[in-house]
Amino acid sequence: MKADMTLYPNLILDALRTVRYPGSGKNIVELQMVEDDMRIDGMRVTFSLIFDKPTDPFIKSVVKASEAAIRAYVSADVDIAGNIAVKTRHPAAQPGSVVQVLPGVKNIIGVSSGKGGVGKSTVAANLAVALARDGYSVGLLDADIFGPSIPKMFGVEGAQLYMRETDDGRNLLLPHERYGVKMLSIGFVVDAGSAVVWRGSMASNALRQLIEQADWGELDYFIIDMPPGTSDIHLTLVQTLGITGALVVTTPQQVALADARKGIAMFREPKINVPVLGIVDNMAYFTPERHPEEQYYIFGRDEDVDALAADYDVPVLARIPIVAAIGEHSDAGHPIALDDSITAQAFVHLAHETIDALDRRNRQLPPTVKVNVK
Ligand code: ADP
Repeated sequence: MKADMTLYPNLILDALRTVRYPGSGKNIVELQMVEDDMRIDGMRVTFSLIFDKPTDPFIKSVVKASEAAIRAYVSADVDIAGNIAVKTRHPAAQPGSVVQVLPGVKNIIGVSSGKGGVGKSTVAANLAVALARDGYSVGLLDADIFGPSIPKMFGVEGAQLYMRETDDGRNLLLPHERYGVKMLSIGFVVDAGSAVVWRGSMASNALRQLIEQADWGELDYFIIDMPPGTSDIHLTLVQTLGITGALVVTTPQQVALADARKGIAMFREPKINVPVLGIVDNMAYFTPERHPEEQYYIFGRDEDVDALAADYDVPVLARIPIVAAIGEHSDAGHPIALDDSITAQAFVHLAHETIDALDRRNRQLPPTVKVNVK
C-alpha cells in the first residue's frame, strides 16, 4: 500500500487480530487487550494495550509483535514505533497488593543505589531511626546480599535469631528491636563471606522467608536496604512485597550518577514498575566537624544531581554532608540520626521529605498505570 492511503481503526484491529498472546491460543483483540483509545493522525497511529500485571513477562514481545503486524498487514509506512502505550489492570506498586503478604504494613520504601559504597545502607539505617524518633513504627530489612551491613550499624552483629509460635502453629522469626526499629538482615541467615556466591534463587528464597515468615506486626514504614545495582533480587522484592516507593541514593560523582540513572530506569521498567520517590544526594559536600556551617563541594556538583533529577522528573529529597562522625557512629552500632547534631538533622529532614513524597504519591494513585515500553 502507498503512504497516501487512509488508515481506519478496523484495518489496524485486523492486523492486531494476528497477534497472539503467548500461551493463550487467542489474539490480543479477542482478549480485550486493545484499549478503545486509538487515534489516527495521517500515518501516525497511537493506542494502548492493557495487560493484567506490570510483571507480565510478555509486555515487550507483544508490543513489538503488534508494531510488526501493523507494518506487515497495513503498511510499512505506518508511524507506529514507540506509539503503543502499555497500561496494567493491577499495578504492583499499589498499597492493595501489599495487603496479602504484610497486612499490618502501611508503606514499603526500597532504598537503592546504582553503585555500591555510596552510602545506601547508611541512609537506610538513619532514615529508619529518624522515622522511629518521630514516633512512627518502623521495620528495616537488610536485603543487601552483597554486603549486609545493617546488623553492625545497629550493634547486633552475630546476634542470635529467635522464633515465636503463632496461635495457628506457624513459627515466625522475631526481628531484633533497637532504637525503636524492628530489624532483620540477610546477614543473620547467611555467612557474609559466602553471600556473593549465592545463586539468585537461594538469595530470593532467604529474603522471602525474612519477609513472609517473620513477625513484623503493624508498621507505618517498612524500609528495605536493597542490593546495589539491578538484579533478580529487585524483582523478587517487588513481586513478593509490592514496594510503595523507592529512594535512589547517589553521590555527586559522575560514575555514581551514571549508575543511579540505570537504577531509576530499572524501577520504571514495566516488570518492576515502582515509583521513584526521589534522589538522596549523599556525601554532597564536606563539612569540617568543628565548623558545621562551612560546606566544601569536593565530590561533584549539586547541579549534576539536580540535572539527573530533572531528567527523570523526580525530586532531590535531601543532601547529606560528608562527615566522619557518620561513619564512626555506624561502626560503633549507633546511627548518627539518634543524635541532636546538625548532621542528624539532615536525616530527620530526609525522613520528613520521604513522608511527604509518599503522601503525594498515595493521594495521586491512578486507576491504571501507564508505563513506557522502549
Ligand atoms: P553502601 O550501602 O552504598 O555500600 P555504606 O552505607 O555501607 O554504602 O557506606 C559506605 C561507607 O561510606 C561506610 O564506611 C559509611 O560509613 C561511609 N559513609 C556513608 N555516607 C557517609 C557520609 N555522608 N559521610 C561520611 N561517611 C559516609
